[in-house]
Amino acid sequence: MASKSQDFDYTGSVEQIRCLDNDKLYSIHVRLLDRDCPVWEDFVMTCGSSTGPWTSDMPGERFEMWVIWMYERRISCEDVGASPTETIIKLLDAYGEPDFHACPNFQDAIMDELIRRLTDPGRVGDAPFVKDLLPRMLIAFPENTNRRLFVADWLAYCNPRKREDEGSLAECLTSQVDEVTLQYLGTVLLRQRYDGDSSPPWKNDPCCYHRHKEVGGECHRRTT
Ligand SMILES: [Zn+2]
Repeated sequence: MASKSQDFDYTGSVEQIRCLDNDKLYSIHVRLLDRDCPVWEDFVMTCGSSTGPWTSDMPGERFEMWVIWMYERRISCEDVGASPTETIIKLLDAYGEPDFHACPNFQDAIMDELIRRLTDPGRVGDAPFVKDLLPRMLIAFPENTNRRLFVADWLAYCNPRKREDEGSLAECLTSQVDEVTLQYLGTVLLRQRYDGDSSPPWKNDPCCYHRHKEVGGECHRRTT
């Protein structure tokens, strides 16, 4: 399935893990698990034996995205026939997977892929509609975290679209988005309007929404 990175030492033992929703059995090097998610044993269950194989209850395609990232350091998210919005929703749902909270580098890699897709619709398809993504973003990026502010920056800098037949977007936002994020959005919009500020924060600081800053680790771009 996943090809191996040239730069990693693949000696050592292998664990076998499957997901509840399919029979595919993944053989994963323990060195990789320990590097990318030292608490991986917390989100798998044993199936009668303490030596495995293990079982994860997360959706299989989400689990596979994680395995491919561990081995190849790329986010594999495109399904045949999926629309750009469907792919972005898949990324948001993976980002919000509770088990991946223990894998900040993987979440940071997903965040980079999200930003790439949301800021370059010319390459990845038309800009999504606000109402298609907003609810999934609010789940993926928890309130009272710096990451929730990404919702405001997305609205201000990525030009998401509003459907003609939809009601007031302002009302939709004020009813669904928390005060802190709305205040931040107001400030960003004022800066854009009166100071001509058109540069999103990730242009100056690519790590601005990365979790490794919270947990004190290295950026995923530096890990091999
Ligand atoms: Zn970073």
